[in-house]
Amino acid sequence: MTTRFTFEIHATDGAARTGAITMQRGEIRTPAFMPVGTAATVKAMKPADVRATGADIILGNTYHLMLRPGAERLARLGGLHGFMGWDRPILTDSGGYQVMSLSALTKLSEEGVAFASHLDGSRHMLSPERSIEIQRLLGSDIVMAFDECTKNGVDRDEAARSMERSMRWAKRSRDAFDAGGEHAGRAALFGIQQGALDEDLRLHSAEALIEIGFDGYAVGGLAVGEGQEAMFATLDFAPGQLPADKPRYLMGVGKPDDIVGAVERGIDMFDCVLPTRSGRNGQAFTRNGPLNIRNAKFAEDQQPVDPACACPVCAGWSRAYLHHLVRSGEILGAMLMTEHNLFFYQALMADLRAAIGEGRLATFAANFRSHYATQRQQA
Ligand SMILES: [Zn+2]
Repeated sequence: MTTRFTFEIHATDGAARTGAITMQRGEIRTPAFMPVGTAATVKAMKPADVRATGADIILGNTYHLMLRPGAERLARLGGLHGFMGWDRPILTDSGGYQVMSLSALTKLSEEGVAFASHLDGSRHMLSPERSIEIQRLLGSDIVMAFDECTKNGVDRDEAARSMERSMRWAKRSRDAFDAGGEHAGRAALFGIQQGALDEDLRLHSAEALIEIGFDGYAVGGLAVGEGQEAMFATLDFAPGQLPADKPRYLMGVGKPDDIVGAVERGIDMFDCVLPTRSGRNGQAFTRNGPLNIRNAKFAEDQQPVDPACACPVCAGWSRAYLHHLVRSGEILGAMLMTEHNLFFYQALMADLRAAIGEGRLATFAANFRSHYATQRQQA
């Protein structure tokens, strides 16, 4: 008899925690970073290489997959895991965020969101019930409730209306998930806290979600343009409003220094396109801050991207070679930059887990920030 979903906390340090989620497809060490596999691929990376960076779980995007290749087609093909060749856990988002940011002619109602595909203009509907159905068809391990990501900068009344609708949708998501038969018996469902930057709204949202009951809780509606200071100010209270014995997931975050600050504030899970997307654009993450490999100063630099990095890219090739590949538009440039960046992110998570486990997170974080900021000012 295998466990459906357990979360065990092995150590705490201040508000930070380290532990593990256990699911049928494998263990997820926390704090965890989930590489984003938008279109059934972590771009420029084979699944075995994603795993070799240290990833225990990846994220798939409901919005993109429902449009292409299509959820019903993916189900006929046996689901997302077999299709893409990743046999470990996959978390799928609900599509709520992408539908509002990528598609056209969106019409929001109590039922859900009607929209036109950004690919071919075809008309679709996403509702809590349809989002959960799609995530089930994909074979998702961690399913996200369908919500409305409240836009940055709206007034309190609008933020409250938006949050309250998301809480009604969270209940419908729970009911749809529970009606999912065999899938509900092996997958997990996470609720998403909204309420913008407002402490009272965040508390109301947390209470509504706890009343419904979820396996984990996401802090949604951050990293939408509010800036790191406002995000950290919200994270000073939002994670503490959510159950301490369940994983807390900060959606869409972030830069390495965002992750360190959020872990210090009690977050257990992250996802972000930054290491993959910015890698393809020539940005490499290092312990001394990000660098732009296209910069002419790297043309004859024979050091590895990050001399302190243990990844195969840094072991095998120089900044000069990556500079050449990226400037030449070579496919290998995107591949190597992505691999290094994902490895850097996973090494950071491993360092955070070790620091929490040994009760030295404050020292680690201060040391990280002093090095990470220095180079960024030079760049
Ligand atoms: Zn490296």
